[in-house]
This record gives sequence, C-alpha cells and structure tokens, in this order.
Amino acid sequence: MQFKYLDTLPACLEQLILKTEQEIGFEINVVVDPRRVSGRPDTTYFPMACKIGSDFASILTNTSTSLRPGSVFHELLHIRRFLVEGVPALVVCEEYEPWTAAIETALAKHDNAFEHLVIVPVELETYPERKEYWEAVALQVLNDIQTGMGDEVAKRQLGLANWAFLHRALPDSTSIPLARSILKSRNEIEHAECFCRKLFPTLKNKIEAIRIWLEYQEVPTEMVSLKYFEPVIRRKFTVPINK
Ligand SMILES: [Zn+2]
Repeated sequence: MQFKYLDTLPACLEQLILKTEQEIGFEINVVVDPRRVSGRPDTTYFPMACKIGSDFASILTNTSTSLRPGSVFHELLHIRRFLVEGVPALVVCEEYEPWTAAIETALAKHDNAFEHLVIVPVELETYPERKEYWEAVALQVLNDIQTGMGDEVAKRQLGLANWAFLHRALPDSTSIPLARSILKSRNEIEHAECFCRKLFPTLKNKIEAIRIWLEYQEVPTEMVSLKYFEPVIRRKFTVPINK
C-alpha cells in the first residue's frame, strides 16, 4: 500500500496489510474515486470498496485525506477471503443464457451480502465502534423495504439477507423487532428463520453455505459459477456451481 496511506493507519492494521501483501505477492493499492461520495444505493452504504483479481487488489475510497481504519480493515478482510483464504466469489455462469448485466450485478450483491455475514462479526470484534455504522446500514435497508424502493423480488431478497445479517453481526440490534414485524407482515418470517437455522452452521464452508443461500433467495444455481483466485501464480479460474 502506498506509504502515505499506510503511515496513517494503526500499527496492527499496517502489519496485517504488509503480511497480506507478502502472502499474495503484490501491493494493495489505494485508489481515490470521488464518485463514491454520492449516488444510491451502494455508494451511500459503502463509501469504501475493494476490487480484486489474480494480480491486483485495490481499495477504492472517496477521500484521500482520512482512511478510517475500521473501513480499511473491512476491505482487507474481503481481500484476504478471496486472495489469501482462497474462498471463491460468485459470478455469472458463462453458459447461462440469457446473460445480462443486471444478473451480474445481482450476483455480486448476493456475494457481498453473504461475505458480510462472515466478515462483519470479525470487524466488530476488532473495531466495536463500527457497530453504529452497521446499525445504520441495516436500518436503511429496512426503511427501503418499507418505503417501497425496488421490486418485490429485490425487497424479499434484501429482507432475508438483512435478517441474517442482523442475527450474525448485530444480535443485540434494536432493529430486530422492526425487521421481524416487516417480515411477518410480508409472510416471510418463517422462511427467514429457517434460512438462518440452516445457513449459520455451514458458514465456514462457502460452497455448502452459498447453496443454501441461493436456494432460500430463489436464485437458480444454473446462473452461478464460482471464481477462484490464485494470486501467487497469477491464475484465476471459474467453475459452474452445478459441476
Ligand atoms: Zn464489504
């Protein structure tokens, strides 16, 4: 990571970044993208983001002045999952017809929401002050579902993902009663509770867990491939999840 950014971060985070760079064999680059400041929905929720490949890892931020350590740690956890731990990312299956950009975006969102079930609890252990931020994100999702943003399928999927997120990352959240009443009014509460019961014990095994995720989110598995990254040998490959 560029020294001017690395130098502003706490020593333990700096160490983890350097260790990660050593493990993957290249530097993690900070890229300032002022467009991330505004625009709904994702950039409002997530002003920082990361991009990865088998030969690069970037952390995108909306400002060059202050990198919040908690946010950097979050992006680093994403990077480590895919590039160090070898966990696959969800992508559209090449053989799937008809491929559309919307499907690709939707799968990326599913993947991100899934990854957050694993990453955010770790993040909050290290940076408990980030709880407030994640509470706000979860509440915003509930407001969006209530105020009618998005189509019915999107709302159902968001509601389900958010229910799992609240229970994994924010089990004491004051938003849980609201989430429950929204799901109840939509006749989705039993489905959501069953989803968590089946999903949570499998989270350590992404392939097993993601199958449950796709089943409950009603995403056809024919659409989905798993993309693996092998940064040390600069290789990546995809395998349809049904193979
Ligand atoms: Zn994230």
